[in-house]
Amino acid sequence: MSSLELSPDEFHAIANRVLDVASAYLERLDSLPSFPQISGAEAERLFRTPLPEHGIGADVLHDLAAVMNNLRTQNGRFFGYVMGSAEPVAAAADLLVSVLNQNVTAWRSSPAAATIERTVVGWLAEAVGCAGFSGSLTAGGSPANLMALAMARERALPANEDGLLGKNQGTFYASQEVHMSIPKSVALLGVGRAALRLIKVDEAWRMIPEELERAIVADREAGRTPIAIVATAGTVSTGAIDPLERIADIAQRYGVWMHVDGAYGALAAMARPEKFIGLNRADSLSLDPHKWLYQPVDCGCLLYRNAGAARTAFSHTGDYARTLTEDPVEGFAFFEESLELSRRFRALKLWMSLRYHGLSAFREAIAHDLSMAERLVEKITIEPTLEVMGTGELSAVCFRHRGAGEPDAFNASLLKRILQRGRVYLSNATLRGSFCLRACVVNHRTKPEDINAIVSETLAAAKELAGTP
Ligand SMILES: *Cc1c(COP(=O)(O)O)cnc(C)c1O
Repeated sequence: MSSLELSPDEFHAIANRVLDVASAYLERLDSLPSFPQISGAEAERLFRTPLPEHGIGADVLHDLAAVMNNLRTQNGRFFGYVMGSAEPVAAAADLLVSVLNQNVTAWRSSPAAATIERTVVGWLAEAVGCAGFSGSLTAGGSPANLMALAMARERALPANEDGLLGKNQGTFYASQEVHMSIPKSVALLGVGRAALRLIKVDEAWRMIPEELERAIVADREAGRTPIAIVATAGTVSTGAIDPLERIADIAQRYGVWMHVDGAYGALAAMARPEKFIGLNRADSLSLDPHKWLYQPVDCGCLLYRNAGAARTAFSHTGDYARTLTEDPVEGFAFFEESLELSRRFRALKLWMSLRYHGLSAFREAIAHDLSMAERLVEKITIEPTLEVMGTGELSAVCFRHRGAGEPDAFNASLLKRILQRGRVYLSNATLRGSFCLRACVVNHRTKPEDINAIVSETLAAAKELAGTP
């Protein structure tokens, strides 16, 4: 027996100790600072230890305290970026996933896991009003967006065999508020970022459809091939939702692929379907259960209307991988529709979490987050020294302090000070050239008091800044 092998008793002992550590962490999560007071030098000293030639056994657990004391914590006062809050049933499932170690490449590599993933993907599609779409779970919204744009490119300008050289130039369209994963994807596809048209937004940060249509017409007249329109359903800065119905009309009129980047917002369609009319007209849709379905990282999802387009873009069946059956269920292979081959059994956490709590509990949690963002807007509005700079239709709120001196510099120092105080975690955004503080609520732990803390901490930090020369 290899010395790496643990007896079932030894596994039970170490897994139990890890569970104890995890449970104790959850117990004190609410009291933990949102960001650790640690410098780069201290982190290096603590964690840049020599390559361990000889093992120390279960003593390794002793160092977990230092790890956990020097993390960012996701209690109810974490409002940075778009970051879900790790629902614990799903977290427990993730441990089992690692023990089972299924490699979900295809049905035959794990019948239960593959079937559960296809089921869960179908549930997600149905939950956001896109019943009938299929797809797969991904590491996140970024690879989902890349895959969607690769599918669109292969449909409009087939280049998998011979490349793009000498072909018509292809173009992509997205709003000025688009997430960086889209220009990154366009660059990786070899089309060139210059081929991404950034369409102007209206006063509420939504793509202006007339501008989109004008850009498409101009490109067609110049002999270029429009490949895809990327509509955003929940922009990162303000949670704006592009006019999906109008964009779908334009996509249809010109025969252009419509992708919706719903990594932040699409799951809110479960709670507020009326904000997402037109979503089900997309050719493809990315959404991130590790954001607004509170799943532990990683869990993204790409949905598409036509699985054939995914197979055209991604299938590369070498003999070793050719399936041994004509049965459509048993012959199903994720790697024929995805850029990934080895794939974690991500579906188990979603399957356990959704069945444990029920969809209605998630719908309520999302609705609660939306009401918490509304509460924040109200609280900011009544504070004379604060102003709301932008908020869309979801749960992101950008604001700033009217403070002394140059507003951008003041608010940048203010953010630093707020994070140092360690009670709430905010991030920032730039809106029409102005530096803003930004809070985003996609957190099943956030309570009204946590929202109040954003305002009180901002005011307290501003007072501290005013007191320093
Ligand atoms: C978070 C986000 C992404 C990227 O998703 P990851 O899961 O972080 O890769 C893309 N688009 C939008 C709008 C996002 O909010």
